[in-house]
Amino acid sequence: MTTTRSQQLFDDAQTLMPGGVNSPVRAFGSVGGSPRFIARGAGAHFWDEDGNRYLDYVGSWGPLIHGHAPPFIHDAVRAQLARGTSFGAPTALEVEMAREVCAAVPSIEMVRMVNSGTEAVMGAIRVARGFTGRRKIIKFAGCYHGHSDALLVQAGSGALTLGVPDSAGVTPAQTADTISAHYNAIDETRALIRELGDELAVVAVEPLPANMGLVKPKSGFLEMLREETQKSGALLLFDEVMTGFRLARGGFQEVAGITPDITTLGKIIGGGFPVGAYGGRREIMECVAPVGPVYQAGTLSGNPMAMTAGLTSLRALTPEKYEYLENLGARLENGVRAALQETGTTAQMQRWGSMWTLFFSPVPVEDYAGAKASDAQKFGRFFHAMLERSFYLPPSQFEAAFISLAHTERDIDDTVEAMREALKV
Ligand SMILES: *Cc1c(COP(=O)(O)O)cnc(C)c1O
Repeated sequence: MTTTRSQQLFDDAQTLMPGGVNSPVRAFGSVGGSPRFIARGAGAHFWDEDGNRYLDYVGSWGPLIHGHAPPFIHDAVRAQLARGTSFGAPTALEVEMAREVCAAVPSIEMVRMVNSGTEAVMGAIRVARGFTGRRKIIKFAGCYHGHSDALLVQAGSGALTLGVPDSAGVTPAQTADTISAHYNAIDETRALIRELGDELAVVAVEPLPANMGLVKPKSGFLEMLREETQKSGALLLFDEVMTGFRLARGGFQEVAGITPDITTLGKIIGGGFPVGAYGGRREIMECVAPVGPVYQAGTLSGNPMAMTAGLTSLRALTPEKYEYLENLGARLENGVRAALQETGTTAQMQRWGSMWTLFFSPVPVEDYAGAKASDAQKFGRFFHAMLERSFYLPPSQFEAAFISLAHTERDIDDTVEAMREALKV
């Protein structure tokens, strides 16, 4: 496989952009080697600048549930392009989008569109504090909620880490009200919520965490969060930026049967364009300006290009589509399990619907500490062995992979076949 052109671009890019990229994981830092520069995509595949074709399991990190360059979305976007890209005034498309989202996710009675998942969570946290009149936030180690200051906190060693910033440039004051807890630690988190009492504004959680690799909630964990926040008068925020419209139209909350107070969305609702959204109960969302005192605004928020791409994408997501994705996911899971056994590999295939992670860990991964204990070097070798065979997986052990509607059973079988060889490397 020739990668001269990608290599050349990466050399240039590193002199012009930090690490040569506009988002860190793209730089291949955790798997080594140098990233492919992608020239175009179609369906389940994309091609790099050297003309190599890959079967893609990243899907732009979640948004591309219909695959690359789906003609039906691009036709709609082209038609809108001719009418204008942004007006800074209300449009019918925003009403249609809000109606679509509220119908799909019953816990969302009102919604505000923004431009990224980061912005959505930042807005949702502000509303939670405005609504409750409280300050403290609980988040969970290994859950990612975008790069806003207050949320760049993870647990360190010990039971809980109080407000230790995870990034340079974030001051202790900015994270002083953020408390990091351990995902799936039921008793510990219950005690923490009770201890914080009427200081606690919101518990923010990825209900199905996928930003430490895919981890499943233990039975009773999300139920406990719902019950305890309700008792405390704090809000429960489900960050469904990744899971929204990925597993069901109603997100993971529909699957789990739990109703949060606020939900954040992004990725799929943008149809490949930059979009985020937050929404929840009417009384909460009516705290947002111009109705209420919580300020939040955006020059390009709800712009017609993104609304068109998003709406077209969402409307095509019927129950049959989720069934198709589940079938492909199950096929992959079964194939991978067989391949692991055949090759005598110790690893955990963790999957929900079309999201999956192969953890090189001897035991199932249930939290951040477990994810971190995986053999990242082994993952790196596996990743490169797959890449050489033209299968593009997320370039990190701590990310979820995605199957799209453009993938076929044949693609899945080819992937398993390649894994059989790659696992021996
Ligand atoms: C991707 C993601 C975000 C951040 O969204 P951006 O659009 O990258 O800002 C926030 N929360 C979760 C759960 C995500 O997966």
